[in-house]
Amino acid sequence: MEVKAIPVCIYCGKPFAEQELPQAFLRLPVIGEKLRYVPQCDCYEKQREKEEAERKAKEEKELLLKQIEELYSRSRLTPRFRRRTLQSFFPRNEKQKEALALLFEYVSLFNTAREKELNGFYLYGAPGRGKTHLAAGVANELLKQGVPCVYVKTGELLSAIREKFKSGDKEEVITPLKEVDLLILDDLGAEEKQEWFIADVFRIFDWRLEMLLPVIITSNLTVDEVAERYGERIASRIKRMCRIIEI
Ligand SMILES: [Zn+2]
Repeated sequence: MEVKAIPVCIYCGKPFAEQELPQAFLRLPVIGEKLRYVPQCDCYEKQREKEEAERKAKEEKELLLKQIEELYSRSRLTPRFRRRTLQSFFPRNEKQKEALALLFEYVSLFNTAREKELNGFYLYGAPGRGKTHLAAGVANELLKQGVPCVYVKTGELLSAIREKFKSGDKEEVITPLKEVDLLILDDLGAEEKQEWFIADVFRIFDWRLEMLLPVIITSNLTVDEVAERYGERIASRIKRMCRIIEI
């Protein structure tokens, strides 16, 4: 008489139960054997669920990475700027050390603390002090968290608005800067002086102040010098939106 080994669960070792099957099934060699024994545990089901969950998690992660990639391309951060992170900034004096600590705290609390007054920074000081590096570092950190940021050099913004103005759709440039979660405007004051541009910058700042949307600005100018160059209205918006940090 033929002795058949009863299959066991490969996960927990519990033997399968044998089923009564019509003779017709048993004559089919592969399918018959498969139908004849059924597991008495839910290991196989659990394994399928686990694999399904892993597949979903992988898909979600890929989607997030894709979205982050899109955020990066919209943020105008060039590959060179992407390497400027808060981790790769090495402070050379106390002011830089304090600013770095504040910005680390800022990015770690961004999602809980963003909707309040003074939720931005005005980083000013002489050229070469690392203002741009710190500002780009904040953008890089928040983009990795999936927070939409736009980082733009003020001079490039002026050119982009002028370019779009010719074709009559400069709002295409301005609207995203009004609405993005965090706007980083680098090197305010380095661009050529234009009254129409000052009016556009004011509109962006005013909207963001009303909506409690943060701005980070870097500049060689003190806020008093901003008032002289851009007018008191812009300087007062900056003072209401930003903590003013000398670097
Ligand atoms: Zn099992």
